[in-house]
Amino acid sequence: MLRIIQNLFCISEQSRFQRAVQAFFLGVCAPLGWLGITHVLQLTATDPLYEVTLYSYITVGSILVMVCFALWISKSEEYFARMSLLDPLTSLYNSRYLLTRADQEFAMFERAGQDIALVMADIDHFKYVNDRYGHSVGDIVLQQVAKIMQNTARKADVVARVGGEEFALLLPNSTTDGAMVLAERIRERVEKTPIDLPGGEKIGVKISLGVSSTEEFLPQVFNELYESADNALYRAKRDGRNRVVKAVETDPLTNEVAC
Ligand code: GH3
Ligand code: MG
Ligand code: MG
Repeated sequence: MLRIIQNLFCISEQSRFQRAVQAFFLGVCAPLGWLGITHVLQLTATDPLYEVTLYSYITVGSILVMVCFALWISKSEEYFARMSLLDPLTSLYNSRYLLTRADQEFAMFERAGQDIALVMADIDHFKYVNDRYGHSVGDIVLQQVAKIMQNTARKADVVARVGGEEFALLLPNSTTDGAMVLAERIRERVEKTPIDLPGGEKIGVKISLGVSSTEEFLPQVFNELYESADNALYRAKRDGRNRVVKAVETDPLTNEVAC
């Protein structure tokens, strides 16, 4: 019988059944509450105040229960909406949020010409850290690097974890030079910040970053900006790691563009 009810209402988890039991006991509380009131006030059905007290009890009680229920539901909704946009390990935003914000910022760029910049970052030789110290130490490193990025970026910037040890920083209203300064600051801080391990040991990691912006390069869609920053990151890796490379480089002597 219970299984039929569960299937009928798609109740598969035990916690849902527990909620139903809680709701049942709360429901039972309503007539018990009325019994208590009639007992305290010595009310009988023939009493002239009986009906008005009963209707007041029903009205106030229903309003209170509904308001509490709505508040509780909205709190849960907010919590789950937020959780669905965050990376559980680092508490940075995830790719889903990054792409949603990127669409909004890209629309602003097309409408108002407000430049956006994108920084892609990847921890150098991270596989070695995992292999040498274990996966849990790798996770500590990811959290530390995420913290440095979050603390270095502005409030308006979107800092997201977009892969295992890959991050993206979307910088609204930002020029290439501004993004380069931020990327270099992150690179330097990651390099200079020792990471404390549980056993007391300290390790250091380095990071490579690629920078692109709508200032020098005119992407048709956000994906093109993403790809150009990712290509710059690839060049940073290829050129020796622990460096920042921008997507569009100009030769200081000839001023010629080299991508
Ligand atoms: P490169 O300098 O070229 O970026 O080399 P790399 O070793 O950093 O890059 P590679 O792609 O070879 O290795 C990435 C590693 O990241 C492999 C994978 O096991 C690890 N990784 C991915 N996600 C997580 C995670 O959530 N936690 C931990 N600890 N490791 C992860
Ligand atoms: Mg890496
Ligand atoms: Mg990688």
